[in-house]
Amino acid sequence: MPGPSNPPGRADVVVIGAGVIGASIALELQRSGRSVVVVDKGNAVGGGSTSSSSAVVRFNYSTLAGVVAAWESAQRWADWSGHLGHVDGPLARLVRCPMLFLEPPGFPRSEATSLLAEVGVPFEVLDEHELTRRFPSLDTGRFFPPRRPDDPCFGDPPTGRLDAVLTVDGGFVDDPQLAAVNLMDAARHHGAHVSLRTEFLGLEVERGRAAGVRLARGASIEAPVVVNAAGPWSSTVDGRAGALAKRTVWTLPMRQEVHVVDAPAGFALDDGGAMLADLDLGYYLRPHTGGTLLVGGVEPDCDPLEWVDDPDEVAPLPTVACFEAQAWRAARRLPGLAVPHRPTGLAGVYDVTPDWVPVYDRTDLDGYYVAIGTSGNQFKNAPLVGEILRTLVDACEAGHDHDADPVSLHCRHTGHDLDVGAFSRRRDPASTTGTVLG
Ligand SMILES: Cc1cc2nc3c(=O)[nH]c(=O)nc-3n(C[C@H](O)[C@H](O)[C@H](O)COP(=O)(O)OP(=O)(O)OC[C@H]3O[C@@H](n4cnc5c(N)ncnc54)[C@H](O)[C@@H]3O)c2cc1C
Repeated sequence: MPGPSNPPGRADVVVIGAGVIGASIALELQRSGRSVVVVDKGNAVGGGSTSSSSAVVRFNYSTLAGVVAAWESAQRWADWSGHLGHVDGPLARLVRCPMLFLEPPGFPRSEATSLLAEVGVPFEVLDEHELTRRFPSLDTGRFFPPRRPDDPCFGDPPTGRLDAVLTVDGGFVDDPQLAAVNLMDAARHHGAHVSLRTEFLGLEVERGRAAGVRLARGASIEAPVVVNAAGPWSSTVDGRAGALAKRTVWTLPMRQEVHVVDAPAGFALDDGGAMLADLDLGYYLRPHTGGTLLVGGVEPDCDPLEWVDDPDEVAPLPTVACFEAQAWRAARRLPGLAVPHRPTGLAGVYDVTPDWVPVYDRTDLDGYYVAIGTSGNQFKNAPLVGEILRTLVDACEAGHDHDADPVSLHCRHTGHDLDVGAFSRRRDPASTTGTVLG
């Protein structure tokens, strides 16, 4: 393996992290005329948490800004080569797939659907009969609350019937790491420099503002703007950046598992399948290519939250306990699903905030910005995050007080104005599902 390439000694911007978020930021800042250097301690672009993403593109978030960002980003995924502006080699692809949102009792349906309506996302409410007619593989029973398979009540009969909110304009990106590589290749095409196997160790501060970065092996880069896009390592990077960069909305790494099972007949991709966000039983799933389903968690109360100290300590392997919980819940909804004896799938790490809403913001230290706390739900918004950071950096470096008067970003595909203040480090935590669904 070749050694790390020496980064230039000076740049307009240093981005810490070459995941899908850092790559998008690098592209937008570089193509707006700044010189960008991306440093990543890993071996590959997109090799961090991006590589384990389920890459679901959906629109049901609890906040207006969340729905606006997802809807605008989806248009960019749909025209990926147009978004990149430079195409070289294979491209990641948005695979269309319908999405059913299965609510727990008491869920504020009208608030959720009015956000979709306000943003212009087409949706339908399906009652239990329509749900059964269109998706006959599903058991539409209400099984709430979510339980562990060893709970004596796990197999109890349903207490009612579900209906669902259906959206059809989403889907998933077939190769999330390739999407990050595409963004970074486009950034490189405009002149960005990417330095892999190059660890950020600390921030240089001069006259009360960011002035550059200190890297492993004694290297450093002078730069007036530094962006923390370190994914699940964001709190470590913030710690290394120093006390001045502290935020009120914290971020912490959390271990997660996603499992792979065979799709039952009538529920594969392009064969009657749909993505499910099932808060009634406590899992999500999406059809995958090759006749399989990916099954992940949505933090039901009965499951422990697995906070970790160091994302590097998380082995990428699934456990029997988590596999059984998630696969058996999915099998209650899809009675034709055969649960294998051995767990298959992966473990990855989210970078979680208290309200599961990301932080895209400046910090209390001039010149030091963050694009962090992506909370397991921001892959889909990556195409827009680069522009969010570019708008922030443009405004703040020109002296605008974003904290007092938050900037907004005009979304060119959908016509909405995105309130970037919704992602502030100083916000009161938003009222959300408190789960990966945001
Ligand atoms: C299992 C799983 C499933 C998911 N499913 C979905 C989904 O269905 N839909 C969705 O929208 N989102 C999903 N997400 C979330 C989404 O994938 C992430 O929000 C997104 O990929 C985060 O990208 P990132 O660039 O911020 O982080 P990463 O991809 O983790 O990149 C951060 C980079 O920073 C580097 N780094 C860290 N510390 C340093 C340092 N000190 N110096 C230099 N480099 C450093 C790392 O090496 C890494 O490459 C999922 C996430 C996981 C883990």
